[in-house]
Amino acid sequence: MLKGITIFLVLLFFLFQNVYSEIVNIGIYHTDKITSFIFLTEQGSYSVFTEKGKLLDIDNSEVLELKYVNNQIVITSLDVDYGCFKKVNFIGTSAQNSFKIKTPDSKKINSYEDNLIVNLHDYYNYIQLINNIDLDNYVAGVVESEVGKNPPAEYFKLQAIICRTYALKNINRHQSEGFSLCDKVHCQAYNHQPKSLLIKEAAKTTHGIVIVDSDINLIIATFYSNCGGETANVEEVWRQKVYYLRAIKDTFCLHENNSVWTKEIPKITWLKYLEKYNSSNISLDYDCSTEYFQLYREQYYMKDNIKIPFVDIRNDFKLKSAQFDIIPNGNNVILKGKGFGHGVGLCQEGAMRMAKEGHSYIEILHFYYEDVHMINLESLDFFKSDF
Ligand SMILES: [Zn+2]
Ligand SMILES: [Zn+2]
Repeated sequence: MLKGITIFLVLLFFLFQNVYSEIVNIGIYHTDKITSFIFLTEQGSYSVFTEKGKLLDIDNSEVLELKYVNNQIVITSLDVDYGCFKKVNFIGTSAQNSFKIKTPDSKKINSYEDNLIVNLHDYYNYIQLINNIDLDNYVAGVVESEVGKNPPAEYFKLQAIICRTYALKNINRHQSEGFSLCDKVHCQAYNHQPKSLLIKEAAKTTHGIVIVDSDINLIIATFYSNCGGETANVEEVWRQKVYYLRAIKDTFCLHENNSVWTKEIPKITWLKYLEKYNSSNISLDYDCSTEYFQLYREQYYMKDNIKIPFVDIRNDFKLKSAQFDIIPNGNNVILKGKGFGHGVGLCQEGAMRMAKEGHSYIEILHFYYEDVHMINLESLDFFKSDF
């Protein structure tokens, strides 16, 4: 028995030793091509380091401007010119530190926790900003950016575990650019530090918890707004089978905001679209082709020798989901759909409803992801010694 546990722990160690980190580097203002910004200390105090060593200590009484000039970063305050540098790090020196950033073209000031790394992006002539941040602080920021402040506390815990799992699974996504993850939906939306204390608490109480599959790999923790009553098998959307991302019936989301939608398009547009897929010599039956009912989530539109994946139709017409009926209406067709999003994995509105009805985050997680496990990386001594 003891031997079995030891093997399990050693296996975990090898699987995660290169993955788990308590500090992450997030590319903020990613793709914004910043050439100047104002730095203000919001909470705590900061030491400013450059490639030449420590430059100064600042607190919230000092405002610094950093500007890209001739492939250098120029630092100035109201009355001091500090010079030109290649690299600038703002390192928090109090127990809790946060700072604000204002860029010339942004209407609002964003605030972030922990440290800031400022690099030159030599090739494209702009400044690269990296938020060097505690993983839980980042996770809390993502949860608020992704789901807002309204869901119940139990849901925040679930979303925190999902966002942490996603972050660690994708930790090398922007390695070639010098950081871990970007702040856009390409990775996970991360707009600023969270305002909700409940969300901060959820990230802290789930500290170190991630979701793994039966081979102890971090899962692909996909989620979306609303499944419309039935989630999708992953291979129907992304062509690759994963055992825990299976279709399930979900009645929890049926009366939520994004459970149904409609879109009306000209009949001629629809028929021309179908004709592109018509490889036979037989013309379409125009009356028949403008009517289709999906009684359950189907993978393909199949009628009159035409076969089109519903996910392709969704993309081509920018629809909320791939699950819809087609109903003729004069010169138009009405697309009458269910759900919002790809439908693979966790249905957020269904999960929020479950949380409101008293289900625990563990129950909700197992409802949407089949046969997965939660482990706490922090509880393993192996990881503690790594930092
Ligand atoms: Zn990204
Ligand atoms: Zn659902």
